[in-house]
Amino acid sequence: VFSGLNSIQAQQYVPVAQKIDPKVEAKVDKLLSKMTLEEKVGQMCQVTLDVITKGPNQFSSDEPLQLDTSLVRKALVDYKVGSILNTANNRARTPQKWNEIISQLQKVATKETRLGIPIIYGIDGIHGATYTAGATIFPQEIAMAATRNRTLVRKEAEVSAYETRACGIPWTFSPVLDLGIDPRWPRMWETFGEDPYLVAQMGYQMIKGYEGENNDIDNPVHVASCMKHFLGYSAAKSGKDRTPAWLPEIDLRERHLVSFKKAINAGAHTVMINSGIINGVPVHASYDIITKLLKQELGFNGLVVTDWADIENLHNRDKVAKTQKEAVKMAINAGIDMSMVPYNFDFCDYLTELVKEGEVPMSRIDDAVRRILRVKYELGLFKTPVTRMADYPDFASKKFENDAYEAAAEAITLLRNNNHVLPLSAHAKILVTGPNANSMRTLNGGWTYSWQGEKVEEFAGKYNTILEAIRNHAGDKNVTYVPGVEYKMDGTYNEEQNVDIDAAVKAAANVDAVVLCLGENTYTEKPGDLNDLYISDNQTALAKALSATGKPVILVLNEGRPRLISKFADQMQAILQIYLPGNFGGDALADVLYGKVNPSGKLPYTYPRYPNSLVVYNHKPSEAQKKMEGMYNYEGDVGSQFPFGAGLSYTDFTYSDLKINKSELDGKDDFTISVTVKNTGDREGKEAVQLYISDLYASITPDVKRLRGFEKVDLRPGEAKTVTFHLNTRDLAFVNHQLKYVVEEGKFVASVANLTVPFSVKNTQTFDR
Ligand code: BGC
Repeated sequence: VFSGLNSIQAQQYVPVAQKIDPKVEAKVDKLLSKMTLEEKVGQMCQVTLDVITKGPNQFSSDEPLQLDTSLVRKALVDYKVGSILNTANNRARTPQKWNEIISQLQKVATKETRLGIPIIYGIDGIHGATYTAGATIFPQEIAMAATRNRTLVRKEAEVSAYETRACGIPWTFSPVLDLGIDPRWPRMWETFGEDPYLVAQMGYQMIKGYEGENNDIDNPVHVASCMKHFLGYSAAKSGKDRTPAWLPEIDLRERHLVSFKKAINAGAHTVMINSGIINGVPVHASYDIITKLLKQELGFNGLVVTDWADIENLHNRDKVAKTQKEAVKMAINAGIDMSMVPYNFDFCDYLTELVKEGEVPMSRIDDAVRRILRVKYELGLFKTPVTRMADYPDFASKKFENDAYEAAAEAITLLRNNNHVLPLSAHAKILVTGPNANSMRTLNGGWTYSWQGEKVEEFAGKYNTILEAIRNHAGDKNVTYVPGVEYKMDGTYNEEQNVDIDAAVKAAANVDAVVLCLGENTYTEKPGDLNDLYISDNQTALAKALSATGKPVILVLNEGRPRLISKFADQMQAILQIYLPGNFGGDALADVLYGKVNPSGKLPYTYPRYPNSLVVYNHKPSEAQKKMEGMYNYEGDVGSQFPFGAGLSYTDFTYSDLKINKSELDGKDDFTISVTVKNTGDREGKEAVQLYISDLYASITPDVKRLRGFEKVDLRPGEAKTVTFHLNTRDLAFVNHQLKYVVEEGKFVASVANLTVPFSVKNTQTFDR
């Protein structure tokens, strides 16, 4: 009954099963053969640090966290727990403190248990080592996608792996490979945006950055990555977090699976399951998705961990299991290897009983424990259970900080620049205003130093807010600051206070331009669920009042998702999207405002104009409707404020010579498409060249276009470069009614910027991926 997507079946796709090292496997076999049932079940259990510390509320960030030794023994010795996660009391710790905690835990695990198996510690280090005080904090994924720069994404993951290992932690719950297709969903900023190709490309770089080119995670500057949340997490019908999705298998395979397939082929060691429900079935109970699709069809040999309390949720929340014990049975039989429990040890008791009663086969337990031990051996934890901060001299180095700054600078997306109001002159008198103008918290977003990002300010001293960075450029005397509206920092994320629009309007009288910083306060997961996608009423009123002064208003959007701005956007002279750019986002923005940096970001999503125009760029033709003389023209826009891929520069780029090397593709051909781009303006600039392909007619209505290549180039004034994209006919494939990957004969068009080139495919082809 709970078998999930019933139509999923092993088909054409031949998985590139992930490699298994025979030496590691021999060790796993040997250890497994010595283990009791209780020892095996313990390996499958993951609890949170809160469960084994004194507290949780008696510690502030500077008071030493204390492990409760009797609780540590209860977990690691009595229950033989194999994994611990995250932090206690929702706080960041210094790397030294982390080292101390992990060392103490590993000492108990390796010295006081019968088999001495080290624990695997896992943490959400999602845009840098985000639970570590002083770590290098990068922009969030949505901003990294806007850079269209694979090298920066790779660096982010490398730095993050290094600094996570410096803490003694070998496993990070990143990257998010879900599609950011719906701005109502509060986790959109944790994704690389709406396009499956873009998400897959950036996700690949994250996996390799965390794990190394050859996935040699025993190298102590690498960590095991965790692709999440398998599968279809972002497609909730209501737009609210952890609510049901209805996903036809064609869509699931065509869009949601793309990034995970690439990540599995890239060797990702672990995966976390979608906390939601697909087609009525909680994914944690879906044998079809976890075992048949992920493990069998896609050949994933790594470790499958649940999301937070999601086995309990099968009973408590999703009501498919009548008891907690039945929930454990369902999830483990569906293919879960490790349960993020995270607050008690009932899981161990229930699972032990279930095996003894014959309800969960021993072969399933062995498969799960094998996958867990495999990762522990590959991480080198048996040899080196804990790495030492002293071996990581580059922690938070200038070089790392510079990488994070560059990422923020390349993410910033200029969406409008009327009358070249930007860049500003350093002598101009500026009013800086809006609730996002003077906050480190809003620059970073959630998962920064604490789950909701609210503790950022405790560590913020050395970084600049937007206001501070602007003052560094223009000097105190040229900069007036009046917030106009403020977020309530101790309230739920969307509460505002101290609304004084008149004060901002009054201050605008004496300046040359207004930098208006609007957006969202930080939130993570459900607290970010929305009832209204429009930016708040107070912020809208502030924007309207300032534009009515006649002073040029430069709108800076600091938000995790595109909140609607259509009520005032047309009155803004310039618009910059900075997303959640991290600790160096203020500096990067000021450098863009004053022309030290030429902006080069491109939107990783469609910015909607209306609440009822939430349509992605790679939509079906009928979703773009423009009413013309009583008729409908299907070539219109989808009602966007700004389209996917939008992003201006202070210089001009001219495209020419779009060419394909074979105008008729025959068989499974490789082919190339090239284009020349020239900087025809007077400033150096970077440009993300974006290649789209359209299939003109197909047996399933084709998307209007699909991104099939991007490359960022740096051009001096007058300089031209030719970019060549290497493709294969299979890159044109779609999933058909028989769930086959197919390219049908017929006409296609490739496009880059304003240029197009037609080509055709001679024979219909079926592909195995
Ligand atoms: C989130 C995951 C995260 C986990 C552990 C869950 O609530 O959905 O993305 O990795 O918590 O913190």
